[in-house]
Amino acid sequence: MALLDIRNLELGIARGSELLPVVQGVSLAVEEDETLGIVGESGCGKSLTALAIMGLLEGTAVRIAGGTIHFQGRDLLALSPEERRRVMGAEMAMIFQEPMTSLNPVYRVGDQIREAILQHRSMSGRQAHQRALDLLELVRIPDPMRRIDSFPHQMSGGQRQRVMIAMALACDPKLLIADEPTTALDVTVQRDVLELIRSLQARTRMSVILISHDLGVVSETCDNVAVMYRGRIVEQAPTSTLFSNMSHPYTLGLLGSIPALDHDVEWLDAIPGRVPTLDEAVPGCAFHPRCFAAQGACRTVDPGAAAVSPAHFVRCHFPQGSSS
Ligand code: SF4
Repeated sequence: MALLDIRNLELGIARGSELLPVVQGVSLAVEEDETLGIVGESGCGKSLTALAIMGLLEGTAVRIAGGTIHFQGRDLLALSPEERRRVMGAEMAMIFQEPMTSLNPVYRVGDQIREAILQHRSMSGRQAHQRALDLLELVRIPDPMRRIDSFPHQMSGGQRQRVMIAMALACDPKLLIADEPTTALDVTVQRDVLELIRSLQARTRMSVILISHDLGVVSETCDNVAVMYRGRIVEQAPTSTLFSNMSHPYTLGLLGSIPALDHDVEWLDAIPGRVPTLDEAVPGCAFHPRCFAAQGACRTVDPGAAAVSPAHFVRCHFPQGSSS
């Protein structure tokens, strides 16, 4: 049994009496001690999928229109809000792109970590303080005894992201969802934070879902990859399989927009156009207006998911790559 098992998840945004689909038929599984990368441009449904897993869509215009989310065999969508809150934070946790929006600027970071611990664990204040210090050390904050009394604005972007990771780890979650955790950081700090997540995973054996627009980041970090475009998974495979036989033109486009480290290029191959908005109806394959391989059927018939090889699925009429 997978730790997390999502089947046919459907999300929609309420517009009057209509529900505009934003995530359609998403199925994902994450095993214990495994890292899944979800990759795609902004507006492809990656973060909404994560928020649905965490039960954080309440109070937004997004509705769950279908599907199931099982975590350790429990149907999360059938839990009461109170039961759901107990799972969140204690068994699964999430870190976001910009820690300043998640950290409270008027409280010291130590108080915020202690609060995260005490919400889910029965400990004395002294024990929670020691645990907060241990966590700051675990996420490699220098001089934790001093930094525990800092306010978020007194820390660098990389240190704030480490504090967020410490808060997420406060209760030893089995699943950590990291939503673009390095996007707001400069390149060297990005590497440090990703390396930290990898080493914490090796140490704690937690599973990780890493959400990113950067296929390069995902390739270095993840066991499996799901590529999302306009609310759908368009390609899904173990990372090594995906990189040895990339099949969907969108995945190839994402790869082409990664800068190479071993040679200089004047221009990167950006994918032309943009992700269509919710209001724009695109008949056939949703990627066809931007696709270099589009042909007749692409403009009228929505492709279904098909297996390129065992565990490698692609949603395309004309998959590229050596097995096509
Ligand atoms: Fe491109 Fe056609 Fe495949 Fe869509 S179905 S990705 S338009 S080749």
